[in-house]
Amino acid sequence: MIAKVDKNKCIGCGLCASVCPKVFEMDADGLAIAIPEPVPAQSTEEAQDACDSCPVEAITLE
Ligand code: SF4
Repeated sequence: MIAKVDKNKCIGCGLCASVCPKVFEMDADGLAIAIPEPVPAQSTEEAQDACDSCPVEAITLE
């Protein structure tokens, strides 16, 4: 599973980085970025929670 953030949609609320810090972090622009590697197996549930919780549906999991 690869996580991606659409920076054109992200509003920088920080929720994903707080729900799933192993996969998401906030960059210097205050927008979320996802790790480029596949989501670690132990973080897939958190990543899904972050995806479901994003208020602007900026996160995709493929
Ligand atoms: S939860 Fe969505 S809007 Fe909030 S920082 Fe993460 S990607 Fe951006």
